[in-house]
Amino acid sequence: MAVDSALSSPLGPPACEKDAKALQFIEEMTRNADAVQERVLSEILARNAETEYLKRFELGGSTDRETYKSKLPVITYEDLQPEIQRIANGDRSAILSAHPISEFLTSSGTSAGERKLMPTIKEELDRRQLLYSLLMPVMNLYVPGLDKGKGLYFLFVKSETRTPGGLLARPVLTSYYKSDHFKTRPYDPYNVYTSPNEAILCSDSFHSMYTQMLCGLLERHHVLRLGAVFASGLIRAIKFLQLNWSNLARDIRSGTLNPKISDPAIRRRLAEILVPDNDLADFISAECSKDNWEGIITRIWPNTKYLDVIVTGAMAQYIPTLEYYSAGLPMACTMYASSECYFGLNLNPMCKPSEVSYTIMPNMAYFEFLPDYHPNSNSEEVKLVDLVDVEIGKEYELVITTYAGLYRYRVGDILRVTGFHNSAPQFHFVRRKNVLLSIDSDKTDEAELQKAVENASKLLSEFNTSVVEYTSYADTKTIPGHYVIYWELLVKDAANAPNDDVLGRCCLEMEESLNSVYRQGRVADNSIGPLEIRVVKTGTFEELMDYAISRGASINQYKVPRCVNFTPITELLDSRVVSSHFSLALPHWTPERRR
Ligand code: AMP
Repeated sequence: MAVDSALSSPLGPPACEKDAKALQFIEEMTRNADAVQERVLSEILARNAETEYLKRFELGGSTDRETYKSKLPVITYEDLQPEIQRIANGDRSAILSAHPISEFLTSSGTSAGERKLMPTIKEELDRRQLLYSLLMPVMNLYVPGLDKGKGLYFLFVKSETRTPGGLLARPVLTSYYKSDHFKTRPYDPYNVYTSPNEAILCSDSFHSMYTQMLCGLLERHHVLRLGAVFASGLIRAIKFLQLNWSNLARDIRSGTLNPKISDPAIRRRLAEILVPDNDLADFISAECSKDNWEGIITRIWPNTKYLDVIVTGAMAQYIPTLEYYSAGLPMACTMYASSECYFGLNLNPMCKPSEVSYTIMPNMAYFEFLPDYHPNSNSEEVKLVDLVDVEIGKEYELVITTYAGLYRYRVGDILRVTGFHNSAPQFHFVRRKNVLLSIDSDKTDEAELQKAVENASKLLSEFNTSVVEYTSYADTKTIPGHYVIYWELLVKDAANAPNDDVLGRCCLEMEESLNSVYRQGRVADNSIGPLEIRVVKTGTFEELMDYAISRGASINQYKVPRCVNFTPITELLDSRVVSSHFSLALPHWTPERRR
């Protein structure tokens, strides 16, 4: 610990001078959270004063919070659609931001079935980079010696498109991995990955995953931490190993790369790394051919100290599976971010998943909080609260004003205040509003599910059959997980009831009706399995109601839940299943937007 004691941090003794500076920065920002927020808002308003959007609200040059809040409305993506569309169509005037929009980041949140397009500007990359640079200094406080080995991270780029006006549209991580910030990052002993850039940057997800797994196996003793962005991604990597270990072992035995991996940059890079290793090939084959995969992560990568993966929010459903594969390794959720803006980090990353709180960094954007307990939280009258004024125990929806030109924009995340670090609040991620079903980054809401059921049930009319009731469930016991839709049918002509083929087509029709993030997960990422319809016995939904009423629900107010995840209820439904049907083909998906 050769760090000057003057650089020591209240968060703990830093591992090196670079870490000391990062921790000091966190302290400065969180101690002065309110002043930083005031400065951030004033900078955003001053530089964008001449934009069409801000001029509309006649701020008259004011950059203070009171004027801003009194003049600008709180908005959602739908309110901004016209402006976004103009930018996408090539209007380069200063509509939202004085700085040119450099590209669109495609959110996993959708609007009318397509990914939302978030405008961004070049300098936002620096702000994201700054947040990334704080993660390892915090982690080093809790896990010593991470400079003595490497991280095995499964990182991927996804397809990108151009808008009619020629701007790139791609996910924020694809934008980051393809940037010089990532590609030409300086050597940092605390942040060395086993995956070569060539593999991360390869757009073919099979080639990319194969190579990243191979490199991780080659360096199995050096791996100290293992991760992916979201839990679903890490589980997919384990499944990939299950399916491909014999080919991987063959490559290791022969010292030559599987000819299927044709990407030239990967082949050149692997030619430098791969040498025949019989012992390693034998070991991989012996471990992977066992029926029992419990603890496979620690068996193959015995020096792993923790999993670096988000298991908060919708990803919490994967905790038991990851515990099984990793023999209970700690899971670190390090940051909270979105396409709109990167928000903050977890200052206690080795805590239990249920205790994760994210500290919002006040320099990233101007943050406001819409109290979520209010019965009428859409109302104009509800007062939004500033970052330092939120109250412990209360829930709020996050509202942001960004340098890139989102003003009082509702993100759609509900957060609960758990405490403070200095004057910066810390938040538990409670949920994303209106999300019914999610397996990977897909987010399906009630209206989308309803539409999908309606469209699919049209296929039943020629069989004189209708869907009387339905509910759904995200089944993550299969890998990849898949949507299960329970249907109770009214079959009027038993002799001509819909058969398995018809119900299989209903599954596909539902998938065709779901949003593009779902269909991309099915088609390109293979992160979501075929949708399943389980037909339940007549009367099952009555029983479901009886069950809810026996547990205290009011008979007058009872509504069929459109998604169920309470085990006794899924058990009840499963015990009444008469037949089950799967989508027999892939739905339609291309990177191009439908509109
Ligand atoms: P996207 O717009 O596709 O980048 O998705 C961003 C959204 O992912 C956020 O608004 C959250 O709903 C969710 N998210 C991001 N980070 C976390 C996290 N650490 N825990 C839970 N949910 C998260």
